[in-house]
Amino acid sequence: MSGSEPVAEGVWRAPGAAAATAARLIVSESGTATVVDAEAGAVLAEAAIGQVEVSARVGSIPRHLTFPGGSDFETRDNDAIDRLRDRHLGRHGGLVHGLEAFRPRLLVFVAVTIGLCVLIYRFAVPALVEVAVWSTPPAVSDLMGRSVLTSLDTLVFQPTELEEERRDRLQEAFAGLVATAGAMRGEAPSPAYRLHFRKSAQIGPNAFALPDGSVILTDELVLLAADDDMVLGVLAHEIGHVEHNHSLRQIYRLAGVTALIMLIGGDIGAATEDLLLQGSALVALSHSRAAETEADRFSVELMHRAGRDPEAIARFFELLRDRVGFGADVAILSSHPATQDRIDATRAYAREIAGTDR
Ligand SMILES: [Zn+2]
Repeated sequence: MSGSEPVAEGVWRAPGAAAATAARLIVSESGTATVVDAEAGAVLAEAAIGQVEVSARVGSIPRHLTFPGGSDFETRDNDAIDRLRDRHLGRHGGLVHGLEAFRPRLLVFVAVTIGLCVLIYRFAVPALVEVAVWSTPPAVSDLMGRSVLTSLDTLVFQPTELEEERRDRLQEAFAGLVATAGAMRGEAPSPAYRLHFRKSAQIGPNAFALPDGSVILTDELVLLAADDDMVLGVLAHEIGHVEHNHSLRQIYRLAGVTALIMLIGGDIGAATEDLLLQGSALVALSHSRAAETEADRFSVELMHRAGRDPEAIARFFELLRDRVGFGADVAILSSHPATQDRIDATRAYAREIAGTDR
């Protein structure tokens, strides 16, 4: 019995017996639990510790170790029994063994969870954005447009100082572009396009479109442009952003999944409030490169159809490049990088369109 150690003093009862015998629990290094008579030293019960059922610790209530066959060792030495559990059952028995069996499942679970998150961001968010764009009632777009313009008016805009004559001429030409865009669109419902003139020293030469069809044009852009067609080429580009719902998509992408689900689920009040907060950040945003290309091509097509210079938008970017340079810190350049690639692609598309007519 070398390596055996007395673990706890207590009493032993034969199966079903009421009479208790003073006894001692001994456990060997190899994990054999033996109950011996405290006085005579006779073996009363013996089993591998893993086969002994140990009662849970509940306050200072005596612990019971039930041996196979039903005999019972009872002790008040709770700490000793806990040490026994840690040492022997921990190594040979349930707990650690259970964790080892669980680890592969845990890893699979974590991997699946991460995978699902990636899938949601990769596929579900764009899908939700498309559903939200498709199901946005015009009233929500209107509200967004109005509130964004109102907040911009207090933040960065001053009333226009352009001559009325120039404004009237541009308004009329803008209405012509909108009508042509309507003809290109066919039967689909048309956004309520409106051209707003504003002066803005902070923003400089710029134009942008809100989801409801409001297009804002700064005096600075009109004054920079060499002719009306350049201004109209830019406006046609902005109409392209509206026709393709670029702003709405941009806002929805920012708004996040919760607002999208609320919106699609019909909780328009709460969702709109959330979206309006995002909408105010709209000016600071830039569209994706793909959206910019789409709007450039739309400008070329629309200007061509309206009988105006389809290369006007390219000429405007060239002017911007020559006046302020590609890398200048001008708001319109951060949202509309006037790169040579962009100018070349737009000119090539204009020539392609003109070519198909001949
Ligand atoms: Zn753009």
